[in-house]
Amino acid sequence: MPTFVYMTSCDGCGHCVDICPSDIMHIDTTYRRAYNIEPNMCWECYSCVKACPQNAIDCRGYADFAPLGHSVRALREEAKGTISWKIKFRDGHEKDFVSPIRTTKWGTIPSPSDYAAPDAGEYANQELAHEPDALNIEGGLPALAPDQLKQGVV
Ligand code: SF4
Ligand code: SF4
Repeated sequence: MPTFVYMTSCDGCGHCVDICPSDIMHIDTTYRRAYNIEPNMCWECYSCVKACPQNAIDCRGYADFAPLGHSVRALREEAKGTISWKIKFRDGHEKDFVSPIRTTKWGTIPSPSDYAAPDAGEYANQELAHEPDALNIEGGLPALAPDQLKQGVV
């Protein structure tokens, strides 16, 4: 569901421009409002939707779940810590999905610089830095041993 901007709600703050990983949210140089320059390249990550303080960004729903005449409204309510998705179908009925923005308190996730640097032995390890701790998996990620991988080879 690529995103688009209601330019009458946008105040041109640029948060969506800063956060878009696909670099497709741009500020129109004449109107000083944001717009999605290439919806085909949208990752549909909705970072822009969540970052927009004006709730000015919406999504085009796919026809299989929201046919013509639908609308998809995303609403970020930071005070409640929720993101709501309201889908309105063309026959008038609505579905609301409310999700927590996150399950940990704001500011509690340490940044990479807060961790000790990995030692040389860890470079030979396939896990990402701090991965077992971050995933809360006892003993690391389950993985196939090399001899198990060979069992299926004839
Ligand atoms: Fe960019 Fe993601 Fe927003 Fe698409 S949904 S415009 S990729 S931030
Ligand atoms: Fe406009 Fe929202 Fe983007 Fe700010 S984050 S420029 S208000 S669309």
